[in-house]
Amino acid sequence: MPSTLLSRRDLDFLLHEWLRVSELVERPRYAEHSRETFDDALDLAERVATEQFAPHNRAADLTEPSFDGQRVRLIPQVRAALDSFAETGLLTAGLDASVGGLQLPHAVAAACFTWFQAANVATSAYPFLTLGNANLLLAHGSAEQVDTYVRPMLDGRFFGTMCLSEPHAGSSLADITTRAEPQADGTYRVFGTKMWISGGDHELAENIVHLVLARIPGGPPGVKGISLFIVPKVLVGADGSLGDRNDVVLAGLNHKMGFRGTTNTLLNFGDGGHTPGGRAGAVGHLVGPPHQGLAQMFHMMNEARIGVGAGATALGYTGYLKSLAYARERPQGRPVGAKDPATSQVPIIDHPDVRRMLLAQKSYVEGALALVLYCARLLDEQHTAPAEADRERAHLLLDVLTPITKSWPSQWCLHANDLAIQVLGGAGYTRDHDVEQHYRDNRLNPIHEGTHGIQALDLLGRKMTMRGGAGLAELTATIGDTVERGRKVGGEAADLADRLAAAVDRTTEVTRRLWADGDPVSALANATAYLEAVGHVVIAWMWLEQVLALPPEEAGDAFHAGKRQAARYFFRVELPRTGPQFDLLDSRDRTTLDMRPDWF
Ligand SMILES: Cc1cc2nc3c(=O)[nH]c(=O)nc-3n(C[C@H](O)[C@H](O)[C@H](O)COP(=O)(O)OP(=O)(O)OC[C@H]3O[C@@H](n4cnc5c(N)ncnc54)[C@H](O)[C@@H]3O)c2cc1C
Repeated sequence: MPSTLLSRRDLDFLLHEWLRVSELVERPRYAEHSRETFDDALDLAERVATEQFAPHNRAADLTEPSFDGQRVRLIPQVRAALDSFAETGLLTAGLDASVGGLQLPHAVAAACFTWFQAANVATSAYPFLTLGNANLLLAHGSAEQVDTYVRPMLDGRFFGTMCLSEPHAGSSLADITTRAEPQADGTYRVFGTKMWISGGDHELAENIVHLVLARIPGGPPGVKGISLFIVPKVLVGADGSLGDRNDVVLAGLNHKMGFRGTTNTLLNFGDGGHTPGGRAGAVGHLVGPPHQGLAQMFHMMNEARIGVGAGATALGYTGYLKSLAYARERPQGRPVGAKDPATSQVPIIDHPDVRRMLLAQKSYVEGALALVLYCARLLDEQHTAPAEADRERAHLLLDVLTPITKSWPSQWCLHANDLAIQVLGGAGYTRDHDVEQHYRDNRLNPIHEGTHGIQALDLLGRKMTMRGGAGLAELTATIGDTVERGRKVGGEAADLADRLAAAVDRTTEVTRRLWADGDPVSALANATAYLEAVGHVVIAWMWLEQVLALPPEEAGDAFHAGKRQAARYFFRVELPRTGPQFDLLDSRDRTTLDMRPDWF
């Protein structure tokens, strides 16, 4: 039985036939690896995700975490699955050998993680948050902080969180008010309230390492006065032993629409619930220099945002495969023109409208997976390409693609989940099938790690204008290479290449026109339409790239034919959607700008 979590065939096609990850073993960082070690890691991820994560996905949704005022309780399967995950060693898949990492390429590690996200996105959030936290400390923490906090996290003994948001400051982190007061011994005492903190409290680990954004009194206002602190739930001694409870208190759990297995918390820092050293105030340790907190967080943002895109893709993918399996089995109705009730019913996959819904899902989820793995491959280029110019190019391209890689899967793989429910009909609307939970789980992704609207402002307001438009130029040049290759192949590939080239030209013209008078208010008025249109152009590019990696039509099998058909679908049905969006942008439409709040 093929897996209904992900398609290993598709992963192998993307990693090997398209991205040629095996060539990376020529580079010193990956010299210990081979196609075999990559395959072993993927096999292991699929097995543990299937056997330990998928079976309690529904149970963790039905019995969400609870808090009795003293303790947070989760169903026991979560802990068991996380113990199995720790044993795989995959948490450190992409990290340096010096911290016990496996030094797998990012592209392979990302593909491994996708199995866990598809199987159980809520349970997998605990190690992935911990990994984000550890990565940040590896980049910016001191050697002592790495020894004290990162090593136990990588061993699976401590878990980590990211504490940015506050009740009054979500999108606008410039307005956070949590403060960190310096102490004579070099530590700080942290006071404030953090909202929405995922994994903020539980008993799954010996300790929780909170990374907290806070202001040191007297610092500059706005984002320039924000610093980053380590605030452990339990204080850790110089010898690594656990000491007093720190003054971090769970005020309550948020009860969410989806992602229910991940605790989501309101945390009070320094309100006197505990009194380390005999007084109120959460003991914190400054990471790096003061006032660099947001820049440090942003350092990791690319990876975190690609991780969100990967999670959205994984949920879309598993929903697609489950609706596909259902459509093959469910008998209903007869073909148009064969209305004789004495004939047998056909499986619903025989109806063109059901195939439309499956093809749409396939084009979204396989297009999104290609983008996620392409970005992970860019991370490998950024870190290990032999020439500095290539490393810089990868960095620039990744910067431009990040808001798209976060937002496009969050929008369209969520839509894939919507279509998966539709394919199942009434059954899709019940809790007897997984697809409704996938939809609820996936609904988070356009909200966290910067909302859809904030990503749009980032893409059009920052990424497309930075360094005199260098980001846009890099994107169009890179897509231009694909277009040239498509034209050389000729036939259908050349036709797709021409259509893609026209969409890229439109992107450049519209971007220029939007910024023609340099007025950000009117330029950004329809930023979301821009994000969505450029996102579709980028996914069309991912589809042409896949077509170019296929064997000649006569030498291919059903898998390859399906890829070609999904590419056709995307170019014929989806890419034309960008026309009206670009028209709206090109006209610098003011409908939303001119709408007054009192007219609603
Ligand atoms: C389940 C869940 C888990 C989370 N986990 C974490 C976590 O672990 N750590 C953490 O720090 N945070 C976490 N968050 C917080 C999350 O990042 C924020 O919810 C998000 O950044 C949005 O902030 P907000 O909820 O305050 O909404 P707001 O910022 O109030 O936004 C509300 C709406 O207004 C729009 N908007 C706001 N400002 C602008 C603007 N300038 N221009 C245009 N539109 C704007 C937004 O796009 C959105 O549609 C989590 C949230 C959820 C729901």
